[in-house]
Amino acid sequence: MNALNIYEGRYHIAKVEPRTFVDGEGVRCSIYLSGCPFDCKGCYNLAAQNFTYGQLCSDEMIDEIISHCEADYISGLSILGGEPFCNLKLAEKIVSRFRARFGRGKTIWVWSGFVFEYLKNDAKRQYLLRNIDVLVDGPFMRQLFRPNLAFRGSLNQRIIDVSRSLSNGKTVYLND
Ligand code: SF4
Repeated sequence: MNALNIYEGRYHIAKVEPRTFVDGEGVRCSIYLSGCPFDCKGCYNLAAQNFTYGQLCSDEMIDEIISHCEADYISGLSILGGEPFCNLKLAEKIVSRFRARFGRGKTIWVWSGFVFEYLKNDAKRQYLLRNIDVLVDGPFMRQLFRPNLAFRGSLNQRIIDVSRSLSNGKTVYLND
């Protein structure tokens, strides 16, 4: 399976966590989209590599995800996988609903096995990239695993400020 050619996914969602403290800054609602072709050794979520794991997502489930983000203490939405950028149909729908409701007043973090420099040059993946705030990029690499890294599993992964990176024309890390 070639990850570069998988765009839409199968519209399945593995898990919704209404309140998490570890998937990005602040208290956040986290969702896990099903399906990832990268097959990293030591993957933290093996079951969610399957594109039909979990449930077919419905409009009601999306309404519920948006409502989980309403409380003032929720900083935003975190989208993990699986691979969000191989699940564009569902990820784009959720992100556009989130932006319609909250504008840029709350943030969206996304975890991806793709690196930022690839994503910014893939026209079909632009909409999702341009509508998120933070990208934690790159595959999990077991040999670079460290137990105490905030928001990432291995040293190669980076926490990228997407809008500053796109407007500056170079990769800018969050809080740089
Ligand atoms: S990119 Fe993430 S979900 Fe996909 S195989 Fe690697 S660790 Fe697992």
